[in-house]
Amino acid sequence: MGLQEKADAQTPLGVYFHIPFCARPCDFCAFYQKEPRRGDIERYLEGMEKELALVSFDQSVETVFWGGGTPGLLSARDLRRLGKAMLQHFSSPPSEWTVEMAPSTVKADKITILRDLGVTRISLGVQSFRPEMLEILGRSHSREQIYRAIEIIRHQDFENLNLDLIFSIPEQSLAMWLCDLEEAVALAPQHISTYNLTFEEDTALWLRREKGQTKGKTETEEAAFFEKSAEFLPANGYGQYEISNYSRPGFACRHNLNTWNMSQWAGFGPSAASQYQGWRYANVSSLDQWLAGLNEGKPQQVDRQLLTPEILFADSLIFGLRTNRGVDLPALRDRFKPDKVDFLPLDELWEALREEGLLEVSPNQCLRLTNKGLLVADGVAADILTKLDEKPAVC
Ligand code: SF4
Repeated sequence: MGLQEKADAQTPLGVYFHIPFCARPCDFCAFYQKEPRRGDIERYLEGMEKELALVSFDQSVETVFWGGGTPGLLSARDLRRLGKAMLQHFSSPPSEWTVEMAPSTVKADKITILRDLGVTRISLGVQSFRPEMLEILGRSHSREQIYRAIEIIRHQDFENLNLDLIFSIPEQSLAMWLCDLEEAVALAPQHISTYNLTFEEDTALWLRREKGQTKGKTETEEAAFFEKSAEFLPANGYGQYEISNYSRPGFACRHNLNTWNMSQWAGFGPSAASQYQGWRYANVSSLDQWLAGLNEGKPQQVDRQLLTPEILFADSLIFGLRTNRGVDLPALRDRFKPDKVDFLPLDELWEALREEGLLEVSPNQCLRLTNKGLLVADGVAADILTKLDEKPAVC
């Protein structure tokens, strides 16, 4: 075993499945997804079995995340088939296994199968409890379906439930956002994710904004929404551990923490991204092309990049600073040994950010963005890359 392989074998491994089917696209969504045509789901399942057969994991898989798309569009039987195909390749069950579900797809038979397979965590795409906000987002579920879905999930004794919420929706006021937060907290999930709406190019929402039919929030308004969550959720027992993520003690999402910590993850399914065995890459974003590659025994991957200590160091800094724990700079240097990095420009950046009240620097060089700093984390990331004069691909 070479040095790099030894280092990789010690790095926690996660597995991501992309299930690319949605009944209809939401108006804000830029993920790869498609409406399933006759036979698509069967072809997808066969493809996943083929893709899994290409990999032999030489270490245990710690966490699993099934996202999409809408995993819940698969029938209970198909969910079982996919889960069993995956577990066959593991030496032991993962300690955390999340499945994303859209409220309209939650049915008792599917949740029973997921629980029996060993799924530990359900992430429910609520986005908002207000019908008019769901309408603006183009979501295809109702408020009643959210409550019904939670009842079904709870009935199967799932103890780890996440609710996804979106803020900065056009026509959403701060008071409306607070109502969504209050309603989420009243449901007592273990985890709440809050995402700032972005207008991704070519989505229906983006087109409406281009035509002047809707408008986004200003930076100041976005900051007010963010601050409202950062104030309300911790006051109600949900600690913030990353810009968009809050949890009850002990319920932070380990899969995501491993990703932000630049561990390893192996992605399966069209458009799934991987960072595995020293490489970063993504599967092609097309069901047909992905299947064609697998049928020829040549998986079609894009954006393949050899990971260097410098790339991993930069990305650990950037993603680590998005967490409330921050980064232990000496430990990071020790871990990656990024010999080609000149630390002087970075030290100047830390000093400038500290003077602006955006960063706290402890005497032993632990860095942590302040609340004000978290608001401009994307700008800080751009500054870091400029100082490093290197632009690793965003994972
Ligand atoms: S359900 Fe999820 S993946 Fe599908 S269109 Fe909506 S946001 Fe995108």
